[in-house]
Amino acid sequence: MGSNAMNWPFFIGAIAIGILSAIWIFRDARSRDYNPLIWAIICIFLAFTVNALAPLVVVAVYLFLRPRGELLTCPHCCKRYVRNLAFCPHCGKPVKKECLKCHDLMELDQDVCPHCGMRSA
Ligand SMILES: [Zn+2]
Ligand SMILES: [Zn+2]
Repeated sequence: MGSNAMNWPFFIGAIAIGILSAIWIFRDARSRDYNPLIWAIICIFLAFTVNALAPLVVVAVYLFLRPRGELLTCPHCCKRYVRNLAFCPHCGKPVKKECLKCHDLMELDQDVCPHCGMRSA
């Protein structure tokens, strides 16, 4: 009886921390195109099988492993994506255009190619 009552704060804490970590990691990983579902599942799974603080360790490991890069706003769906992607991970539309001269990729809103200096139409 006593031990059952003691477990409630643990379960509520595990659910809250697990779900909040999972939501945060899912959104960030999706912007970086980095297995969002797998990271979110690991958070919730460890919250229940290890302890309520395990998802925080997962977040720390994730922060260490995640693809680095500035987040930009997709011009099509207004969600965030990491700079080095050529296609938006949310809507799948291209967020880069090809330079007509050197054929390297540049941002959609850039007028001058950062690689060769060619001005695009
Ligand atoms: Zn988009
Ligand atoms: Zn160029």
